[in-house]
Amino acid sequence: MNIGILAVQGAFAEHSECISKLGAEPVLIRNTGDIHNIDGLILPGGESTVQHRLLNETGLFQPLREMISNGLPVLATCAGMIILAQHICGGEEPCFGLLPVSVCRNAYGRQLGSFSTVGNIGSISDFPMRFIRAPYVERVCSDNVRILNITDDRITAVRYKSITALAFHPELTDDLRIHREFLDTVGKSC
Ligand code: GLN
Repeated sequence: MNIGILAVQGAFAEHSECISKLGAEPVLIRNTGDIHNIDGLILPGGESTVQHRLLNETGLFQPLREMISNGLPVLATCAGMIILAQHICGGEEPCFGLLPVSVCRNAYGRQLGSFSTVGNIGSISDFPMRFIRAPYVERVCSDNVRILNITDDRITAVRYKSITALAFHPELTDDLRIHREFLDTVGKSC
C-alpha cells in the first residue's frame, strides 16, 4: 500500500516514519510526478500559508484536489486541516476547500504556545494529543461531518467521508493507532 505524504514543507518526515513502522510504503510528494500510484494521502502540519503557495507553485494543487474530491482517503494534521477547510476565520482564502468546516488558525486559550493532553478520538481512547499553534474547528457546515474530539470546548478532530482531519500531531507521539486506523481505511478503499 502506497501512502503519499505531501512533502513540500512541515512535519512530513515524522509521518513517513509512522507509515514505515506500520509496514506500508511512504511516498514523499514534491511534484506532480509523485502522485500516480498513491492509495491514500497525508497532509502534514507545518505552515498552511507556505504549503498553499507551494501547492500552487509545484502544480500539485489541481491534481491533488481532484483526487481528494474523488474519494482518495486523507489524513490531515494541523496545517493540513487548514489546507482542507472550506472556510478560514477572518476571511483568509481557503486552499482545497473540500472539508465543510470553518477553522480558526493559530491557537486558542492554552494552545497559544503548545500543550499536550490526552483524549478520545472517535473509538480510540486515551490518545496523547500534542498541539502546536493549532487550529480548531469553530463550525461544521454539513450534517455529514462527524466530530471525533472536543478539547477545552473546541472541536479538534473531525471525519467527513474519507477525510480525517486533526488539529493535533499524532506523528509526534509513539502511539500509532491513528495511523493504523487510517491504513485500515485505505485498505478497505483499495
Ligand atoms: N499555525 C500553523 C498554520 O496556521 C499550523 C501549525 C501546525 O501545523 N503545527 O498553518
